[in-house]
Amino acid sequence: MNAELLQDVVRQVLSEMKLESSNILSNEYNYGIFDDMEAAINASETAQRKLFECSVQQRNEFANVIRREVLKKDNLEMISRDAVEETEIGRFEDKILKNKVAAEKTPGMEDLTTRALTGKDGLMIEEYCPFGVIGSITPTTNPTETLINNSISMIVGGNTVVFSPHPRAKNVSIKLVKMMNKALEEYGAPRNMITMVKEPSIENTNLMMSNPKVKLLVATGGPFIVNTVLSSGKKAIGAGAGNPPVVVDETADIEKAAIDIVSGASFDNNVPCIAEKEVFAVDSISDMLIYHMKKNGAYEIVSQDMIEKLDKLVSQENGKPKTEFVGKSAKYILEKLGIYVDDSIRLIICRTSKNHHLVQEEMLMPILPIVSVSDVDIAIEYAYEAEHGNRHTAIMHSKNVEKLSKMAKKLEATIFVKNAPSYSGIGVGGEGHTTFTIAGPTGEGITSAKSFCRIRRCVMHDSFSIR
Ligand code: NAD
Repeated sequence: MNAELLQDVVRQVLSEMKLESSNILSNEYNYGIFDDMEAAINASETAQRKLFECSVQQRNEFANVIRREVLKKDNLEMISRDAVEETEIGRFEDKILKNKVAAEKTPGMEDLTTRALTGKDGLMIEEYCPFGVIGSITPTTNPTETLINNSISMIVGGNTVVFSPHPRAKNVSIKLVKMMNKALEEYGAPRNMITMVKEPSIENTNLMMSNPKVKLLVATGGPFIVNTVLSSGKKAIGAGAGNPPVVVDETADIEKAAIDIVSGASFDNNVPCIAEKEVFAVDSISDMLIYHMKKNGAYEIVSQDMIEKLDKLVSQENGKPKTEFVGKSAKYILEKLGIYVDDSIRLIICRTSKNHHLVQEEMLMPILPIVSVSDVDIAIEYAYEAEHGNRHTAIMHSKNVEKLSKMAKKLEATIFVKNAPSYSGIGVGGEGHTTFTIAGPTGEGITSAKSFCRIRRCVMHDSFSIR
């Protein structure tokens, strides 16, 4: 039998045994990138068994390897630039900040606290333990941030992860997965803790969701994919869409509120799911608010005709945003309307009624409608309606604790930011850790390592109560 024929036979046998032939035959390591989904999942399962043998301190070190690699200046710039170029979404400088915060502020092993109880019957501990292989579906809007954030959290939790990135972020995702695996391998960590397929597609995502070796599904994206994983019959974590409203009342520091709103709503061209998407301002201060917004990077479209032209330009027939305008700059969008501005303009603002399409739809572009209302109670009511029960993120500028409390209770948002830009809710200039998977629908909230773990109990009878 010649060598080629022998390899074919070996391949056939391995394939029947559902083992991955290419790696075994050539011992070639492609840093987590596989031709087919089954091979990616099988490799992830093998890696998870090895990871499970490692101590929690070692897992934490693996997470630190990812942090260090991503934070190297060249790497940070490369993935940020590539993400903007490939997806044609967002701003390079803001992607750098988001990737940096994902690497620095995603919690490590300190998140996995053990609960212990002792008494006359001995000792009980409950610990956060791995699920095993996790399938994670990631969005175009935060392609690299979500990969970094999920990889750290999931590996610290003892899990491995098979990613299903958006096809429009394929190349940058491949580059980042390879980068993280390469650094991990050099450190001596198990291979293939982070995997994906060469050609992400809906078919591959479906294969991932139905594979019994994948024990937990995580979807970060719009309503369709969140509903899909929630109907999969598996344990699933859903991080879905928002439409964050901002309320500004007469007690707020109006100039600061204007600066904060422009900063938050223009951050990464408004694609973060937490970014300010519409404003409800009380009549007595709305002119002053707009005046200060215009002094700080906002361009106001005044004419009703032009506002309708803008809406038509960026919206599909079904009301959803046109993909080609998602995450584009204010300057780019204005140019399409024949309005030419310089780079200091980061946000388009316009006065609209409460029911305007730009208010009610999550547009994911730097267009911020402002609705004037007679008092703060109405503003809170309208904010509640515009948020559509997503319970995702809300922002309020006020010094009235009673009204702040009223808004917090009414909207039940996972993130409620007071007197700051929205991004302070994910640890950028605000207290607390970061996440790029905000799991409102399934309740894990600001996800971290423990969100991706199972709680298991261990009991020792009669011993180890040492009080
Ligand atoms: P999207 O829903 O179009 O895509 C998200 C992911 O789901 C992608 O990987 C995509 O390939 C996959 N997907 C979509 N439809 C699919 C289908 N029919 N079958 C299989 N896979 C499918 O969202 P997007 O445009 O990439 O991201 C923006 C949306 O995500 C916004 O609504 C935003 O609010 C939301 N988002 C939420 C969070 C959060 O943490 N809650 C974070 C980022 C983005």
